[in-house]
Amino acid sequence: MKKWKIMPALVLAVCMFVTLFGGNATTEAMTKVEPASYGTISDFSSIEENLTALQFTKTKKKIKAGKTYKFKVNKTGVTWSVSNKKLAKISKKGVFTAKKCGSVKVSAALGTEKVTFKVKITPKAVIGIDPGHQKSANTGTEPVGPGSSTMKTKVAGGTYGNSSGLKEYELTLQVSLKLKKELENRGYKVVMTRESHDVNITNKERAEKLNESCDIAIRIHADGAGSSSARGATALYPSSSNPYVGNLSAKSKTLSECVLGRYCESTGIKYRGLSARDDLTGTNWSTIPVTLIELGFMTNPSEDVYMANSANQETMAEGIANGVDDYFKK
Ligand SMILES: [Zn+2]
Repeated sequence: MKKWKIMPALVLAVCMFVTLFGGNATTEAMTKVEPASYGTISDFSSIEENLTALQFTKTKKKIKAGKTYKFKVNKTGVTWSVSNKKLAKISKKGVFTAKKCGSVKVSAALGTEKVTFKVKITPKAVIGIDPGHQKSANTGTEPVGPGSSTMKTKVAGGTYGNSSGLKEYELTLQVSLKLKKELENRGYKVVMTRESHDVNITNKERAEKLNESCDIAIRIHADGAGSSSARGATALYPSSSNPYVGNLSAKSKTLSECVLGRYCESTGIKYRGLSARDDLTGTNWSTIPVTLIELGFMTNPSEDVYMANSANQETMAEGIANGVDDYFKK
């Protein structure tokens, strides 16, 4: 009985064996295909490797201060960072905000992978600052404007603080250096005509230096008067009939309005107003919009004491910088 049941199973097994190995031709064909299919597998694996390596898919080499830009990589869940948080910041989603001029590295990290990209933050604008006067006056003369036969003192002595004893050239540099720092923190580039007292740079030379690379010029001065009661801040700009820089009158007036308005708002110093002046060498030689701000009267005891104070000077610088911001928003 058992043999009868086993026999058909054996026959079936033999038949299946023959069927499987009967297709010699098919086996041959598959063997021939194999080299090609190996090649395909190898190509796929190298593409797959490239796809899995972390890399940037969207970048920008130069970004202007104040602007934002969204960096992208080929993977999700990365951690973004910047090499200098004073210059820029980056959000968890890769949105980069440029704050201050300079070079900064943007990085994306995921596990052991990290990619880095170098970005240059360019300035919002280039601001020229001329801290009025210098340690020693230069009584030589120079033309009051291009082509003029009218000669004027190269650098006048300036006034001084009746209460503080501070010289005008000291006050103007103290405020200018704070203004420089404030503007740089806001994303501007700053060019100074001087950063020390013992220099000899004429008003014409100061204008020429700022003309080279700046977008606007800010001349910092302080007033003096015979009467100790005279007070307030003034901004001087060239009139539209100025033979040298009449073409810059409108823009210079706007700049003067912005700077003086915000300066007085910040400091509480009286707004004396704008004054059109065509007799200023440092203004007449300018080829860029220019303002000269008289910060206040050093001959007025309360304004003198206020302006000589370092913390107040920060407020003064902030006010002027607010005015610069306003000017470039117009
Ligand atoms: Zn002065």
